[in-house]
Amino acid sequence: MTVLLETRKLTRSFGGIRAVDGVDFTLEAGEIRALIGPNGAGKTTFVSLICGRVPVESGSIIFEGRDITHLPAHKRVRLGIAYTFQITSIFPNLTVRENVELAGMREGHEAQIALDVLTRVGLAHIAEQKAGDLAYGHQRLVEIAMGLALNPRLLILDEPTQGLSTAEVEAFISLIRQVAKSTTILLIEHNMQVVMELAHRITVMERGRILAEGTPEEIRSNQAVQQAYLGA
Ligand code: ATP
Repeated sequence: MTVLLETRKLTRSFGGIRAVDGVDFTLEAGEIRALIGPNGAGKTTFVSLICGRVPVESGSIIFEGRDITHLPAHKRVRLGIAYTFQITSIFPNLTVRENVELAGMREGHEAQIALDVLTRVGLAHIAEQKAGDLAYGHQRLVEIAMGLALNPRLLILDEPTQGLSTAEVEAFISLIRQVAKSTTILLIEHNMQVVMELAHRITVMERGRILAEGTPEEIRSNQAVQQAYLGA
């Protein structure tokens, strides 16, 4: 097992609330990890700390053996940590291809990378359309393509299937399986079908802490999780 990412006692408060409260977390290279938990559990804050979008209050973040706790966000991107949060990162007046080329800028082979990535996510046929004119589901795929254009070691997705149709969710699941062959994935997801189908392991957060961790089978049968989250 190769550890890709580790957090130790990672903590961040907002006002009096500990959004992330002393989280020890380990992510292995090559896995698809789902991060689940009720609203306000601290999932987005946790991945924002990993990306450097939110400063760490205490604790540490180790990526590929290197302490990145205080590294600026853009330097983490260069190390291979890519994240897709929301469609607001898309330039609506540029084409799909231009958006993906811009995202992959630092690589130096933007055009070829953009084409490869768009083929992988199934958007090559609409590469020349304006991103702002696309249907919602396609815009979400553009976001993922923009993340992949960075050729990341770790791809972090925050609620990627929100607002997608059933068919789009199915397509997303096969896409992520494909992407996971070369990239480790950390996925915040509320759709339990997606979580159960995709994740190798699941981490459950509640009130800033890790409530449980395990395989989909283990999490499904965990009573504390059922009470806190699944409502079963
Ligand atoms: P959701 O599933 O609803 O997205 P979440 O598990 O991602 O929830 P967070 O968004 O990380 O949870 O929020 C955790 C706690 O931190 C909440 O109480 C939230 O109100 C608070 N919080 C998060 N970001 C901020 C902020 N920028 N300022 C103040 N409070 C914040």
